[in-house]
Amino acid sequence: MKEVYPGIFLIKEKGTSGAIKPPENIYVLAGSDGIIFDAGYGTKKVVKHLITEIKKVEELYKKQNKEFKLTRIIVSHCHPDHFSGLKRIRETLGIKVYLTKKSAEIIKDKQSFIKSFETDAYKDYLRVRKNITRRIINVLRNVGSKLFYQRIYGVSYIDDPEDILDENTEISINEDIWKIFPSPGHAIDHISLYSEEKGILFSGDNILRSITTWLGPPNCDIADYINSIETIQKLPNLKLILAAHGSPIEHPKERIAEILSHRKARERQVLNIIYDNSDNGISPKDIVKAIYPKDSRFLHQVARGWIVLTLKMLEGKNLIKRQEKKKKILFFPAEKD
Ligand SMILES: [Zn+2]
Repeated sequence: MKEVYPGIFLIKEKGTSGAIKPPENIYVLAGSDGIIFDAGYGTKKVVKHLITEIKKVEELYKKQNKEFKLTRIIVSHCHPDHFSGLKRIRETLGIKVYLTKKSAEIIKDKQSFIKSFETDAYKDYLRVRKNITRRIINVLRNVGSKLFYQRIYGVSYIDDPEDILDENTEISINEDIWKIFPSPGHAIDHISLYSEEKGILFSGDNILRSITTWLGPPNCDIADYINSIETIQKLPNLKLILAAHGSPIEHPKERIAEILSHRKARERQVLNIIYDNSDNGISPKDIVKAIYPKDSRFLHQVARGWIVLTLKMLEGKNLIKRQEKKKKILFFPAEKD
C-alpha cells in the first residue's frame, strides 16, 4: 500500500499481462468512517492480499493514535475487475456494500450480468455472417462464465446491497463531503467520486494516465463518454485524478485535453475516410481496414469496437448516413442542406 494523498491509500492488485486481467487499483479512504473505492478481483488470494494491506493501514493509524474504521465499499462500475471482490471483502471486513440502482441491477445475479453483454450493436453495423453477437454471447455463457468470471476474476454476485445510492448524490466520508455523479460511456453504470475541497477525483476507468480507455460494444457509448469527460473537465478545483489502473494523474487538465483531442482526431479520421469514399460508400469493415491497413485480423476485431461506436456517434450527429445494399451496410457523408 502507498499513501497517495494524506489519508488516501492505494493498494495494487496484480493482474496478468494483457487486457483480460489488468492490474487493478483499490483505494482506501482511511479514517473514522472510511470507505473502500472499487472492489477489484474476488479470488481468495487477491482478497487476502488486499486485507493484509488494509491491516497495514490500520496499524499505521493505530500507531499514530488516529481512529481507523472502514464502514462501506462502493464501486466505480460493474466490470468484473471492479466488482468481483465485493462479497468476500464485505464478509471479511463486515462493511456495507453501497451500489447505485444501475450497478445493483447488473450484478444481482449471473443472468443479469451475462445479459448486460447482450447487444445488437455489432449486428447493426457489421453484417457478420453467422450472427457473431449470438456466438459471442454463447461463448460467454458456456466457457466464459465458468472460466473467466469465476476462476480468473473470482466473480460473485450481490443481490442484497446494504444501500442503494443515487447516481447524483453526496456522501460523507470521514466527515468530509464527497460528490458522486454519473459518468457513463465506458460503462452504462459508471460513476465518479469527487471532493471539490481536496480537488481529488476517483475516475474509475474513464481517465487513465497512459492508456486509452476501452470503448466498444456492448456497453460503451462514445458520445456519452465524451460528455462524461467534458463534465469532469469542468469540475472546479480538480487537482488530482486517482484512476482504477496505473499511476495517479497529477496534471488532470493536460490528460483530459489529450483524451478529448484523441477522440476528436479519431472521429475526424473516420469521417475523412467516409468523405474520401463518398461516391460508392464504404462499409464498416473496410473502414477498419483503411485505418489499420497492416494489422492482423485479430487487431481488426479489437479495433472495430471504437470504430463501430464512432460510426454510431456520427450517425447520431447526422454527419453520415447509411445505405443497405445486398445485406451490406455502406456509409456516405450526409447531404448538406
Ligand atoms: Zn471497466
